[in-house]
Amino acid sequence: MTETNPAALPEVATELTAIAQREPQTLAQQIALSEIPAPSFAEGPRAQEFARLLAAAGVHDIEIDASHNVIGRLGPADTKLLLTGHLDTVFDQDTDVHVTTDEAGVLHGAGICDDARGLAAVLSAAKSLAALEDGLETGILIGANVLEEGKGNLGGITGLLDTLAGRFEAFITVDGANPERIVTIGPACHSFLVTFTGPGGHAYGDAGRVSAVHAAGRATVAVADLEVAAVPKTIVNVGAIRGGVTETSIAYQCTVEIDMRSDEQPVLDDLVARVRQAIEAAVAVENDRADTSAGEITYEIATTCDIPGGTLPEDAELGRAALAGYGAVGLEPYLGAAATTDANVPLSRGIPALCVGGGGAAGNNHSTNEYFDPTDSHLGPQGILLTALSFAGYRAETV
Ligand SMILES: [Zn+2]
Repeated sequence: MTETNPAALPEVATELTAIAQREPQTLAQQIALSEIPAPSFAEGPRAQEFARLLAAAGVHDIEIDASHNVIGRLGPADTKLLLTGHLDTVFDQDTDVHVTTDEAGVLHGAGICDDARGLAAVLSAAKSLAALEDGLETGILIGANVLEEGKGNLGGITGLLDTLAGRFEAFITVDGANPERIVTIGPACHSFLVTFTGPGGHAYGDAGRVSAVHAAGRATVAVADLEVAAVPKTIVNVGAIRGGVTETSIAYQCTVEIDMRSDEQPVLDDLVARVRQAIEAAVAVENDRADTSAGEITYEIATTCDIPGGTLPEDAELGRAALAGYGAVGLEPYLGAAATTDANVPLSRGIPALCVGGGGAAGNNHSTNEYFDPTDSHLGPQGILLTALSFAGYRAETV
């Protein structure tokens, strides 16, 4: 990390001005990309257009992999930072993705912020990084990845961690708008659908038999009684119980849905193991105390969600670079926001990562009423530029 504030260097100041001046072009690219449908698993056409724009920005060695991740390089072959936005949206192929601009200049369209803004901000920052490329002390891998949204299960960044292993030591994802809220906590998530099954029977005629509802109830109480850490924030929630037939039937089936989350992966792993033990013990109690002559209670656990996560250490160089970079353009950035983003996966593996907004303001993300307010949106790519220069290292041109 360079000691001098890169923003103070004349050639960097020139690029900060250039980013502000080309913001109308950046917004035009944001609209164009947003109008190319890109459901998770169908990002190909948007990836092609993004790759074309990335090349036009001056990024070289661009490759599109089999999943449609687009990655190029700036600066030395010895790369240290990976910087991407995500290509996919939550919308299906048939959603109207036409973008309109209202009288106040606010853009309206499905996906116009999430993550068309991130993609456009990466492109604008890339153009300035390309102009400053000769001064980069380490290389930057820059582009866009697939499969960030729900159904994709963070598969894009997970694939890149394998294919680019050893080629970067920190990751920045540009997702959403707000450039002051820096996400450094990626809660790890794990969900269970537990199905309890037994012989069932008549409440009076078959009195004493094991019950799927009783077993599910015992398991629910046992899970609710588990101790969980306040720091790192950790939760367990039995969110739904469904089962049984009626009050005169001994229940033959009951399902329970359990959500578990923690800001630290090992803490979540421990909780998941304890929840499994609690369920097993609850079923054992039901089978011990009730009549199993017609059959025992059995159970099956299906994992319905498994997202790794972690937290960026407070003193991490990457976090300090982002605070300095966004602070230098006049924003008041802060670390410590929590959200599930592409940063989750590297954080879960101990690789420094964070998520920043691409500038401007937005709302109604993941709905067809999504909007993007471009007021001062140039501050997003400016912050990305300074953060990347600071982290990669920048040596002023010697005159
Ligand atoms: Zn997003």
